[in-house]
Amino acid sequence: MRSGGYEQIKGFLGFTKRFPDEQSCRDFLFERRWPNGFACPACGGVEHYFIRTRELFECKYCKRQTSLTAGTVMEKTRTSLKAWFWMMFLMANMKTGVSVLGAARLIGISYKRAWFMAQKVRSAMAERDEDYLLDGIVELDESYFGGKRPGKRGRGAAGKVPVLVGVTIRGKGPGVAAMRVLDSVSAAELKRASEEMIKPGSTVMTDGFLAYNPALSGYTHKTKVIHDPKNASSKLPWVHIMIANAKGTIRGVHHGVTPKNLQGYLSEFCWRFSRRNFNGELFDRLLYTCIRGKPHLVGTRRRSRSTLTGDRETGAVPGVYRCYNMNMLAVQAKGIYGASRGRSIDEVFRMRHRLQ
Ligand SMILES: [Zn+2]
Repeated sequence: MRSGGYEQIKGFLGFTKRFPDEQSCRDFLFERRWPNGFACPACGGVEHYFIRTRELFECKYCKRQTSLTAGTVMEKTRTSLKAWFWMMFLMANMKTGVSVLGAARLIGISYKRAWFMAQKVRSAMAERDEDYLLDGIVELDESYFGGKRPGKRGRGAAGKVPVLVGVTIRGKGPGVAAMRVLDSVSAAELKRASEEMIKPGSTVMTDGFLAYNPALSGYTHKTKVIHDPKNASSKLPWVHIMIANAKGTIRGVHHGVTPKNLQGYLSEFCWRFSRRNFNGELFDRLLYTCIRGKPHLVGTRRRSRSTLTGDRETGAVPGVYRCYNMNMLAVQAKGIYGASRGRSIDEVFRMRHRLQ
C-alpha cells in the first residue's frame, strides 16, 4: 500500500475504512512519530512503560513522561484524534480548500474547535513551507490581496496587503509555489522575502518593476517588459494563475481573511498546490507535516504586521476583513476571554453569516 514511504488512502471510503476508531488513529500516529519504536524525546532511551490510564509513555531511564501528541500540533488536545485526522484529511484533499464551518459540520465538532484546529494545521503547513526554497526557473510577481480597485503599486495601494508570489517552472508547467506577505513593496522588503523563498543561483523572471533590480541582485534576474498591464498574464502566465486562484479561494471558501491570518491561508494554498500530484498520499503527508509542526498558532512568533492594517480605528481592510469571531478567538487564546459578552463564537458566526 506504500509508495515513497507514504500510505495511499483512496477517498472517503478508503479513509473511513482505514481509520474506523480512535485506536486505529493512535496506532497510525505512533507509527509515524516513532517508526522504529518509542524513543524518549529527552534522552533517546527506548525502554519505557506505557501508563494506560493516562495514555503516557514513561522513559525507564530518565522517567520523563511523553504523550503521543507532545511536540505535534495536536499537543494537549482535548479533541479526539479521529476528529483531528478528519480535519487533516479534508484540508489535504479538498482541492480549493475547506471552509471551517463546512469542516465543523462534516466532522461534527463546534465551529470554534474546528477553527483552532485548522489554524494549527495551517501553522504547520507554513512551517513546512519555509523548509523548501524555490529553485531553477522562478516566475515572481507581487500582488495585492483585498479590495476591488486595481490600485497603484509602489505607493501603497491603500488598504491592501502586498504579497510576493513565486512559482517554479518545470518544463512547460508550474512546479512548486511559495507566497509571502510583505510589509511594503520596497526593494529591501522584496529582497528579504525573495531570499526567504528562492534558492541562491536561481533564475528569476519578473516584470519591469524597478524595485526588483536591487532586490534580486543575488540571482540571475530576467525581466519581461509588460507594456499593457492587461497582457501581464501572457508574460508570466503561471504566477498570475496562482494569484488568481489564491484570491478566488480566499474570497470564495474562506469569505475573506484578516491580514494577520493571511500568511497562514497562503501557506495552506501553496502546500496543497505544490503537492497536487500526490493524490492519495496527501493525508499521510499532511500528518507528517503536523507531527513536525510545533504547537503554536500562525503569527505568534512572527514580527508584527501592524503596518498592514487599513483603517486605523478598526483595523479593517476592504476585502480582507476582520471577523468578530476571530478577534474573540484571539482574545480567548490569550486567556482573557470572559463570559461578559454573553454570546458564543458560534452564535456570532451565525449572526455574521445570517445562518440559523
Ligand atoms: Zn528518557
